[in-house]
Amino acid sequence: MRDQILGDLRPRVTALTLAARPPGLAVVLVGNDPGSQIYVRNKVKACADLGIKSESLTPPETITTEELLALIECLNQRADIDGILVQLPLPPQVDTRRVLLAVSPEKDVDGFHPMNVGNLVAGRPGPRPCTPAGIMELLRQYGIPVGGKRAVVVGRSDIVGKPMALLLLHAHATVTICHSRTADLESVCREGELLVAAMGRPAMLTADYIRPGAVVIDVGMNRIADRALAARIFRGSAERLATLDRKGSLLVGDVDPLDVQKKASAYTPVPGGVGPLTIAMLMANTVAAAERRIPTTHLPSR
Ligand code: NAP
Repeated sequence: MRDQILGDLRPRVTALTLAARPPGLAVVLVGNDPGSQIYVRNKVKACADLGIKSESLTPPETITTEELLALIECLNQRADIDGILVQLPLPPQVDTRRVLLAVSPEKDVDGFHPMNVGNLVAGRPGPRPCTPAGIMELLRQYGIPVGGKRAVVVGRSDIVGKPMALLLLHAHATVTICHSRTADLESVCREGELLVAAMGRPAMLTADYIRPGAVVIDVGMNRIADRALAARIFRGSAERLATLDRKGSLLVGDVDPLDVQKKASAYTPVPGGVGPLTIAMLMANTVAAAERRIPTTHLPSR
């Protein structure tokens, strides 16, 4: 699916490049967080593969809010930049909300600007946050019905849980949002014909949380290095433990990887499920932003 989404974008990138210039994405990565560096590297690589011009800006960990705002303003003014992505989390001294607010809504390819959040709430067009948008595309392409279904989203972050719940609501699901204070999470989750896990808690949703036959979307990406935990999650699998010993860690979702196979009618694995789609949707948002900014009269008809 990832390759198909990227394949569909290719002629649009070519058309923009021939008509005016390639789409441009600026990625702002503050500091040296290894996880963020991997995400940014993958995003830059996806741009290069598609012919999107990307630019990485890597200010030091010590940057102030004012300095970062000045950098964003500079990118807002640049004619050759269609999308601005600020890799989160930002260091604690930086006011993340002010920074996200400073990104021009037209260049907000993450869909995090309050104006685009409002567009999402109101069901108006605009860029949607990439991970939930990828999940909706996944459900659509696999022909999994959403309308009228009981959907349970575990996690209420601005990046995943909330936009996910809104997109499911717009698709006519009956949506319950859960979080760390939800009472009797187990039985609420078991009501879900569609269960989306986005908590960042390794393999927390075990068989008791999954309704038989549910469609389970595992957004969680947890890197675990604890051998005892890995042995418990993978039931002592020698192969998995050998991988842990070789690599030093394993990537695990928020759903128990073995239980979900037994109880779900369909599920996304970790790794290889939701993750690759997120980058594909980022590329889609960048191309769409470029198409909005480069007058369509310059483009051959599609
Ligand atoms: P986040 O901002 O930390 O939010 C986590 C949410 O889960 C919060 O709403 C929290 O509740 C809830 N939660 C935490 N522990 C819980 C518990 N024991 N029971 C019920 N709810 C609990 O995380 P995020 O940014 O949304 O990311 C969630 C996970 O998805 C992470 O593993 C992240 O790495 C992954 N992720 C993957 C992708 C991808 O492309 N695959 C993209 C983004 C994120 P409170 O609000 O009450 O604290």
